[in-house]
Amino acid sequence: TVRVRYAPSPTGHLHIGGVRTALFNYLFAKRHGGRFILRIEDTDLERNVTGAEQEMLSGFRWLGFNWEEGPDVGGEYGPYRCTERLPIYQQYLQRLADTGAAYPCYCTPEELQADKERGVPHYVGRCRHLTDVERHAREQEGRVPSWRFAIPAHRTIQFRDLVRGDVSFQTDDLGDFVLMKSNGIPTYQFQVVVDDALMKISHVIRGEEHLSNTPWQILVYQALGFDVPQFAHLPQVLNSDRKKLSKRDPNVQPVHVYREKGYLPQAIVNFLALLGWSPGGEQEILSMAELEERFDMDKISKSGAVFDTQKLAWMAGEYVRRLSVESLTEMVAEQLRQRAVSLPSHADEKWLRSVVALFQEKMTCAEDFVELADGFFHKDIEWEPEALDVLRDEHAQAVVLRYIEFAKSDAEWTPEQSRARFKQVQTELGVKGRQLFMPVRAAVTGALHGPDLQQTITYLSKAWVVYRAEHVLL
Ligand code: GLU
Repeated sequence: TVRVRYAPSPTGHLHIGGVRTALFNYLFAKRHGGRFILRIEDTDLERNVTGAEQEMLSGFRWLGFNWEEGPDVGGEYGPYRCTERLPIYQQYLQRLADTGAAYPCYCTPEELQADKERGVPHYVGRCRHLTDVERHAREQEGRVPSWRFAIPAHRTIQFRDLVRGDVSFQTDDLGDFVLMKSNGIPTYQFQVVVDDALMKISHVIRGEEHLSNTPWQILVYQALGFDVPQFAHLPQVLNSDRKKLSKRDPNVQPVHVYREKGYLPQAIVNFLALLGWSPGGEQEILSMAELEERFDMDKISKSGAVFDTQKLAWMAGEYVRRLSVESLTEMVAEQLRQRAVSLPSHADEKWLRSVVALFQEKMTCAEDFVELADGFFHKDIEWEPEALDVLRDEHAQAVVLRYIEFAKSDAEWTPEQSRARFKQVQTELGVKGRQLFMPVRAAVTGALHGPDLQQTITYLSKAWVVYRAEHVLL
C-alpha cells in the first residue's frame, strides 16, 4: 500500500514550494488509495520557530488537505514530531554501532575546521579506526563523541528515481557523515531514514534539492536492514528568470498572506498542481477531486517549473468568478471589517452584494475589492487627470449638468431610471455614445473606466452623484 509523507521543518512560514511538495504527495496517496502522513522534523533546534508548526497545520487545513496521521491527529506509527522520538533514534544508532556501521568521532570543531581549510572534501576519517584504548583515552578527557556512519569504500549506489530515472553515486565521493550529534540529536540524514522506515513510507516524494542526500540515506537503510522505499525528486520551482525560486522573491508570498488577502484555497491548490505536473489535454481548472483522480507520477516533468505570477492571478480570478456572490460578499465583508471600512449610510447588505457583483469579474482575491470599489465607500474622491481632461470640454460639462438636473428631480433611483435620464439628455442636447456617458462617468467616479455605469450611479446614491458632479464642475 502507498504511504507517503510530507515532513516540514518548523523553521518559518509555510511556503508555496513546500505546499507543492506536500500536494504531490497528497495527490499521489489519494490516486492510489494510500495514506498521507504529516511529520514535523524539528530536530534542528536552533532553527525551530515557535508557532511555525501551528501555522503550517492550519495552512494545510485551509488548503483542503487531510492527513490520516500527524502530530495533531496521532496514528499508529507516532509520535509524529521528531523531538519526541529521540529514544528511538538512540536505539537504532546502537544497532549501527553494534555492527560497526557507526563509530564515535571525537574530533573537535577546531580540528574539523582545520581540515576544511586544508581543502579536504569531506571528513578525513581520523576517528574511524581508533582502537578501544584510544577511544577510552578521549572519553577520559571528557570528550563527548558524535557518531558517524562508516561509508563502505568503492561502491556504487544505484536507484531508479520515479521522476529522474536511473541515478547513481559513488561511495568514494561521500564522506563519513554524522548520524548523531554529541548532544544526542540525530542529523536529518539519519532521522529521516529511521522515521520513514518505521512509518512504513513506501514512496519518498520531495524536492530535487534532496536528490544528493539519497545515497547517504540508502546506505543507512541497508545498514539497518530496512527496505529501501521508492524515491521521486520533484523538479525545482523557478522564478521568471528561470532561477531557483527564493522564499524572498517579492512575487511569491507565504501561504498565510494569500489566505489573509482572501484568495480561494482551491485556486492555489490548482495552480500548484500544475507546477511540474500536467494532466494532459487543455483543461487547466481542476478541483481537488479531479486532481486526486488524475494525478500520477509519469506526467511529472524533469525540468524546472516556472512560477508564473500572471497565471496565478488568472487562475485565482477564475475561481473568484465561479464563486456565488453571497460567498464572495462574505469574504469581502471580512476584508472591510479588518480595515474598519464601514458601509456608507445609504448602504445595506443587499447593496454590498450588488457592488461586489459589479467587481467580481475583475477580482483575483477578496482584498482586490477594497481598492477597486474604494469610490463606493468614500464620498470624496480624487479625480484622475484624464477624467479632468474630459470635463474641461464645455459640451461635456453641459451633459453632466443636465443629467444632474434630471437626477435631482427624479423620485426613482434605479439603473432603468438612470438610462431614461441619459435618453432625455441625448434628445435634448443631441449627443450620444461616448460623448454622453463619458463625462458623467468622469464626473461621478473620477475615472474613465469602471463597471457598468447605470449600476455604478445607482449604488453610489443620488446624494453622492450630485455632490461629486457639482463638486468637480462648480
Ligand atoms: N525536513 C526536510 C525538509 O524540510 C524534509 C526532507 C525530506 O522530505 O526528506 O526539507
